[in-house]
Amino acid sequence: MSEQGFLSTVHRNFDRAARYLDYPAGLLDQIKICNSVYRFSFPVRREDGGFDVIEAWRAEHSHHKLPVKGGIRYAPDVNEDEVMALAALMTFKCAIVDVPFGGAKGGVKIDPRKTPVHQLERITRRYTAELVKKGFIGPGIDVPAPDYGTGPREMAWIADTYGQLHNGDVDAFACVTGKPITQGGIHGRKEATGRGVFFGVREALSDEALLKQLGMTAGLGGKRVVVQGLGNVGYHAAKFLVEGGGTLVALSEIEGAIYNPKGLDLEAVMNWRRETKSIKGFPGAETLPSPAAVLELECDVLVPAALENVLHAGNAERVRAKIVAEAANGPTSADAEEILRRRGVVIIPDMYLNAGGVTVSYFEWLKNLSHVRFGRLNKKFEEASTGRLVHAIEMAAGRSLEEAERRQVVRGASEEDLVNSGLEETMIEAFRQIRAVQIKNPKIDDLRTAAFVNAVDKIAVSYMELGIFP
Ligand code: GLU
Repeated sequence: MSEQGFLSTVHRNFDRAARYLDYPAGLLDQIKICNSVYRFSFPVRREDGGFDVIEAWRAEHSHHKLPVKGGIRYAPDVNEDEVMALAALMTFKCAIVDVPFGGAKGGVKIDPRKTPVHQLERITRRYTAELVKKGFIGPGIDVPAPDYGTGPREMAWIADTYGQLHNGDVDAFACVTGKPITQGGIHGRKEATGRGVFFGVREALSDEALLKQLGMTAGLGGKRVVVQGLGNVGYHAAKFLVEGGGTLVALSEIEGAIYNPKGLDLEAVMNWRRETKSIKGFPGAETLPSPAAVLELECDVLVPAALENVLHAGNAERVRAKIVAEAANGPTSADAEEILRRRGVVIIPDMYLNAGGVTVSYFEWLKNLSHVRFGRLNKKFEEASTGRLVHAIEMAAGRSLEEAERRQVVRGASEEDLVNSGLEETMIEAFRQIRAVQIKNPKIDDLRTAAFVNAVDKIAVSYMELGIFP
């Protein structure tokens, strides 16, 4: 942990942005505070006959739009401050990418790596039942999703428990996102956060003014990338950044870190980890003394993709990255932020950069409520009409396309194509909006403050238009 609580870091960042906004103080206070926190405990019977008392939370930060939305974290040291901070970030994140939800977050104080699967299932189902009892879950109320320590399996248990308690509710699947495909999930959700990170970094690396400030050339090609954390977000961010031309020079996980300036083969590292239960000792790479050592390597893009406050007053002076791409929520403490800013490091902030997850969660929610897969109605129609167009051009040109070429051109969009296209558009547009804030307020010299201004502005307008703050 760093020098201050996570929530106060979020508040400090909020306050810095508030200086650029001209709204009544009461309205800004309302946007800043967390509306409701449900803290509860419940017993769960262990296999050996004993009981564990489980501590859990669900925080709903802002109800200016419904439902509220955000993941559920399973971690041994999760706490109320953290859940409230993460819920607040969700509110701002949704506003930035124009996802029409308020922010929320849940936490269960357990170590998922040390908890047997049947126990995880009991805990997840009981947690869901407790949320139902208190009205803290529902397609139009509060829609959880995966976060650190949870994934599609937990989301399936949540959807099933909710469905059992809402017999006949045709929209029950929309009570949670990030589900397996067979349980109402959507193609592309698992990769979404990492893919969004790639789009965000790509946007930053094509922004002339930013590149000039950093003294960097455009594009990901040959840029040295370091990824801290190999969970769902870290793995996919690394994968897409490498596919986009980056060189993955270092990786870290809970057990250790590896470095190879010539580049690491991500899939080979994953296989090595599966076989040996560790990334350490990966052939051809140097094993670093500690996982945190990757944060201090010289590189172009450092991607913290695990937990909050990994960059703090104790190591920020030694960070040698040009860009910190915040795939995790809150990886930079407020003190580290000051240091990095002074040293000219550009931070692409979490509430923008990792918003790909909630963006595709929004698409999943829409799919669940419309009860039809995206692309189902138009895929074949698109293929037929493009096919006719191609045929007409072939006749006019007197040449036919090769079969492989034709398949490429005539292909109708699948659900995954549409999801990825919606995500790409979202990340590009949000980056443009954040930069537009800076153009309008040249005094704002960092992307986080600009992102906050953009988010708070949208939420304030939404309150004003409700007539609560005339
Ligand atoms: N837990 C993810 C986040 O922090 C996803 C939230 C969601 O999809 O609702 O953004």
